[in-house]
Amino acid sequence: MAFEPKVAGKWHAARSGRDIAAELFLTDDGDVAVRDAQTGAILVRSARSDLLISRRVGSVPRRIGFSDDSVFVCRDNDGVDRLLADVVGRGSRWLVEIERFRPRLIVLVAAVVLLAVGVYRFAVPLLVEVAVLATPEIVPELMSKGALASLDETAFSESTLPEQRRARIATDFLELAALTPRGASRFDLQFRSGGSIGPNAFALPNGTIVVTDELVDLAGSDDELVLGVLGHEIGHVEHDHSLRQLYRAAGVVGLIMVIGGDVGSGVQDLLVQGSALLALSYSRRQERDADRYSVEIMARAGRDPAAIARFFELMRARFGDAGNGAILTTHPATGERIEETRRYAAEIARSGGVDPSN
Ligand SMILES: [Zn+2]
Repeated sequence: MAFEPKVAGKWHAARSGRDIAAELFLTDDGDVAVRDAQTGAILVRSARSDLLISRRVGSVPRRIGFSDDSVFVCRDNDGVDRLLADVVGRGSRWLVEIERFRPRLIVLVAAVVLLAVGVYRFAVPLLVEVAVLATPEIVPELMSKGALASLDETAFSESTLPEQRRARIATDFLELAALTPRGASRFDLQFRSGGSIGPNAFALPNGTIVVTDELVDLAGSDDELVLGVLGHEIGHVEHDHSLRQLYRAAGVVGLIMVIGGDVGSGVQDLLVQGSALLALSYSRRQERDADRYSVEIMARAGRDPAAIARFFELMRARFGDAGNGAILTTHPATGERIEETRRYAAEIARSGGVDPSN
C-alpha cells in the first residue's frame, strides 16, 4: 500500500460546538477531504480552490475552512503545508487567504469610492439647489445683517468719500441693479472705510453690496471701474453664490437638516451671526460667472463691458498677482482671468453692438 499523506486534527461541523478527531487528506481526484479518524467516513470534501486556509502564524493551530462552512483545525503546520503544497503555493503560502479576499476587497473599496464620488458630484449639488430654493427669505436677511454688523464692529468705519461721488456711484449702481431679475429695490449699496480690509467689495446674500473707500480711491476718477466691480458683486447676489457656498460647506447632513427645516440652534446662531458668511470664499467657477455677469450687465447698461477686466489690470499693476489682504486674496487678478474677461467682453460687444471702447 502506497504511503498516503495525511494530517491529524479536529473537525468542526458548521455551526457546531462539537469536534471530531479527524484526518485531512487528498482524494484520488485531487480534492481535499476530511474523514473521521475512527470510522474512516468522509466528513467533507472540497476542491482545493474552495478552501480558506488561515495564515501560518508561529504555532497557532491552522484552520482550513471548507465550502460547507465546516472547519478542520490542526497544530501540524508543517504537515498542512506539505499536504497542501500546491494549494498554498511556494513562498506565498501565507497569502492564500489574502489573495482569496483581495478581489472582494477591491470591489468593495471601489464601490465605496464610487458612491462617495457620486454623492459629492451629484447629490450635494442637487441638495444645494433644493436648499437654496427652500431657504426662507428671512435667512439671507439675518445672515447679511449679522455679517455687516460684525464687519462694522471689527474693521469698517464710516465712509469718508465726498458725498457727491458716493451719490454718483449709487445712482449708476441702481441703474445696473434695475436690469437684474430681482430689480433695484432688492439691492442696497453701502459705502464704508475699509480699515484693515483695504480696497474691496462684498456681496451679501440679501442684496446688500459693500464697497470700501479704498477701492473707489484706487479707481481714481474712473467710476466705470467701480461699476464693473459692482456688476461682478451683483452677479454673486443674483447667482446666490454665498448661500450655495455656505450650503456646500454644510455637507450632506447639514443640507438635509436645512431642507427639512430642522436646523439646530447652534446652526441657527451661526447663520444669524453671519460669521460663517465672512469665512467663505467663492469657487473659481463662481468668480468666473460673476465676471461674466459684470460683462453682460455693463453691456446692457450701455457701459464698458470690459470694465471688470480693466479693474483687475489696474489691481495687478498695483499689487502683482496676489494682494496683501486686499481684494486680490479673494479675487486673484490672474492674466488668464483678465484675458478671458476681455475676450468675453469683446464677444458680447460684437453680438450686442456695444462698443467696448466707448
Ligand atoms: Zn467675486
